[in-house]
Amino acid sequence: MEDCLFCRIIAGEIPSDKLYEDDGFIAFRDINPQSPVHVLVVPKKHKERLADCSDNDKTMLSGLLLVANKVARDEGIAESGYRVTINSGPEGGQLIYHLHLHLMGGHKLSDQMG
Ligand code: 5GP
Ligand code: ZN
Repeated sequence: MEDCLFCRIIAGEIPSDKLYEDDGFIAFRDINPQSPVHVLVVPKKHKERLADCSDNDKTMLSGLLLVANKVARDEGIAESGYRVTINSGPEGGQLIYHLHLHLMGGHKLSDQMG
């Protein structure tokens, strides 16, 4: 998906503040952080949104959460706490149509859930 921003970040065509990478995932800091730690965890395989996932994506989806846990430990927020969010579709507030997870923490997050 050459016109996809996150595919271009994965390909290294657009720079990012990368914290983690393996064969299946990349994690980098959000360009417009909403909390002291705000990291995006992104599967390398282009999939538009969570709503498009099925049983075939079980391994990828569990991997996404486990990479978030690893980055949270590396960022020192595993004990203080954090929130993970996936926005799916227009009313979910999704702006970039390449599946990704937001990992947020580093201060007390608001109780507001929308
Ligand atoms: P969404 O609303 O799709 O769940 O979130 C997209 C996120 O991507 C937003 O939090 C936005 O700040 C972030 N973002 C957009 N463009 C870039 C970029 O070029 N680099 C990085 N690191 N983050 C981006
Ligand atoms: Zn993509």
